[in-house]
Amino acid sequence: MNKENILKKMESYSLTSFGKTLAKCSYKEKYIALAKALMEEIVPTWIQSEEKFEGKKQAYYLSAEFLMGRALTNNLLNMKSKAIVEELFEDMGIDFNTIEEAEEDAGLGNGGLGRLAACFLDSGATLNYPLTGYGIRYQFGIFKQLFIDGFQVEIGDNWLEHGDPWSIRKASEAITVSFADGDVLAVPYDTPIIGFGQKTINTLRLWQAEALNKFDFEEFNHQNYDLSVKDKNDAENISKVLYPNDSNDEGKLLRLKQQYFFVSASLQDLVRKYKEKYQDHNFDNFAKLHAVQLNDTHPGVAIPEMMRLLTQQENLSWEKAWKIVVDTFAYTNHTLLAEALEQWSVKLYQELLPEVYEIIVKIDQQLREELEAKGITKKELPQFEIISNGMIKMAWLSIYGTKSTNGVAQLHTDLLTEVELNHWYKLYPERFNNKTNGITQRRWLLQSNPELSNYITELLGSDNWITNLEELKKLNQVSDDKEVLKEFINIKQTKKNQLADYIKENEGIEVDPKSIFDIQIKRLHEYKRQLLKAFYILDLYYRLKEDPSLDIVPRTFIFGAKAAPGYFRAKGIIKFINEIKKLVNNDSEINGKIKVVFVENYRVSYAERLFPAADISEQISTAGKEASGTGNMKFMLNGAPTIGTYDGANVEIVEEAGEENNFIFGLRVEDIAKIENYDPKAEYVNVKGLQRVIDSLIDGTFDDGGTGMFKELHDSILKGASWHKPDNYYIVRDFDDYRKAQLEVDQAFREKMTWAKKCWLNIANAGKFSSDRTIDQYAKEIWGIEKA
Ligand SMILES: *Cc1c(COP(=O)(O)O)cnc(C)c1O
Repeated sequence: MNKENILKKMESYSLTSFGKTLAKCSYKEKYIALAKALMEEIVPTWIQSEEKFEGKKQAYYLSAEFLMGRALTNNLLNMKSKAIVEELFEDMGIDFNTIEEAEEDAGLGNGGLGRLAACFLDSGATLNYPLTGYGIRYQFGIFKQLFIDGFQVEIGDNWLEHGDPWSIRKASEAITVSFADGDVLAVPYDTPIIGFGQKTINTLRLWQAEALNKFDFEEFNHQNYDLSVKDKNDAENISKVLYPNDSNDEGKLLRLKQQYFFVSASLQDLVRKYKEKYQDHNFDNFAKLHAVQLNDTHPGVAIPEMMRLLTQQENLSWEKAWKIVVDTFAYTNHTLLAEALEQWSVKLYQELLPEVYEIIVKIDQQLREELEAKGITKKELPQFEIISNGMIKMAWLSIYGTKSTNGVAQLHTDLLTEVELNHWYKLYPERFNNKTNGITQRRWLLQSNPELSNYITELLGSDNWITNLEELKKLNQVSDDKEVLKEFINIKQTKKNQLADYIKENEGIEVDPKSIFDIQIKRLHEYKRQLLKAFYILDLYYRLKEDPSLDIVPRTFIFGAKAAPGYFRAKGIIKFINEIKKLVNNDSEINGKIKVVFVENYRVSYAERLFPAADISEQISTAGKEASGTGNMKFMLNGAPTIGTYDGANVEIVEEAGEENNFIFGLRVEDIAKIENYDPKAEYVNVKGLQRVIDSLIDGTFDDGGTGMFKELHDSILKGASWHKPDNYYIVRDFDDYRKAQLEVDQAFREKMTWAKKCWLNIANAGKFSSDRTIDQYAKEIWGIEKA
């Protein structure tokens, strides 16, 4: 790739698409012209990639979410062309950063689950595995978050307003998907997934819903203008918007339509291509050539849909089709929260997908017969029923209809096999396995922290860590080298300064870049316990007021989180933190000793600025509730120790980096299992300072604008509610231990060099948490695919 070529292509694109010279184009237009110029470089290699995998077994990742973020810099780095393009813009007198900032995030996901899918695609392409992503091209991604008066307000995310230069519409490959109330067209949009070094370019195929009949001339002639476009609107609604719920599902008709829409289109796509390529109408080799991974149960309808395609369209016997299905599909479980296990009402399925429903009935019947044959008694039977009490249990369907069920961290998998899914585990022990999540170091270190990346490359004398993160282990050897630790401290300070500038510009808050940057960024959820951190901050504030000489290291508490729009309590917690922020930041007596920041609209591109600037990573979920977490890994890789519970992948992080280099506190899973007669109301009066901060929710300290949010939050801790006991997440029981751990952080941070060593040992031992390792395990242990 050369500069002149790219410039020429950008110039001609500006003329034909924007009707002006490149010089006259806005930053956004220049970004689009650049992306289009790069696509001309990408597509030929992309086509070659597809050809090299022909005839080989391939893997397909079905996911309702792909939280991709921005593509430009990621693609340039993976093409090893970032420097050239930066130079090109420098020649034009343009700061390349303004071009990067012109790109909208592709926010087609809620949080960890969608971001995992994005990291997996990056790793698949980089490792030269044939891995295709299948999902939905939502017209509106995750909402944009505003704070008005401290309340979350949601705005539609119209990310396609100026088009998406990275995707190609493949109209000729459209597929018809049938519902009881009519057919819709699924039109694929393909995005290249460029592996590092550009040897392999894989595909993310997202389906857009369109009407078969976009315009009814007859209705138009009769002046029924609404009816003339009714089919168009009804169809387009299916891929209109991402459901903004994280880890709990609403059971809405449109959501079910979305699931079936993308699953049916993807499977029909596979069947069609298989028949074209292999001329095999018996499907004898289908399972040998395809591995399909279901990202949670959202695409679980794939099991009956594949049965429908094989038995009804392709006329295979039920028995043969069932074997193909079980051998082809695998399922990833992402949650231990019982309330988040997906269920659909029989009525909804019957209404929308009657044929698919009949197949689920047959699957349920077959399971009952199998269980009876295995000697399962009538009494034990109900715990396995796929259809029960008028509901369809998607997790049961997904375990029964696949060859593999995996958890996403060792603790999570252990809890699945020993507790939550123990009855299934006893039935099919060979199906269960663990695949600890990971993150791609290309985005979460190379791209987001070039300063640290360059230094690591310099120390190691090679950039092999970019594709083999275990190389970082060698950094253990220099963990006592003062020069190395000093340079790390400098780099961390640079990243903190950059974040401080960005926060000043975007949040209007001045923070002290020398203070401890204490960061909790993740979806807002009671189990993640943002409220525990909020109570801690308020307690610290009161202690500072009582004793202004209290000796603490200045600290900046940073939050970033979206709440599902219908999750009243989560929105109450956002408002509460924003009230604490107002109190603390406006108190001149506190004199900047502590500050609170709640960044607006936390998303992938903001995350890329936050992780590298963190001094301490907050991973404080109630033990047993966070399946894995991946934010914890991004912090670790950027040299921030964890203050956290023994939960999810925190367990493995501490195992790798050493408990002495992190701050573990609180109840463990086995402690919680033993708790009886928990009475937080009796307990909270005995923990110094705790009653004061919890009661601030109701004693007039703060104003929730008459919404009743704060009273409801207070009740959730001390009284409980119809659906849960008081303090369901053990904030009261864990508060004092958390406060002690925070005191240890404060003390440890004062010793600059020993602190830096802790950070360094986290980086040096982060190798395990590359999604390259995760994908390699999926490829070898579940999919049976090979590298090109
Ligand atoms: C990594 C990431 C998450 C997941 O964070 P957890 O702390 O694991 O819940 C969510 N959102 C974004 C934008 C991320 O980058």
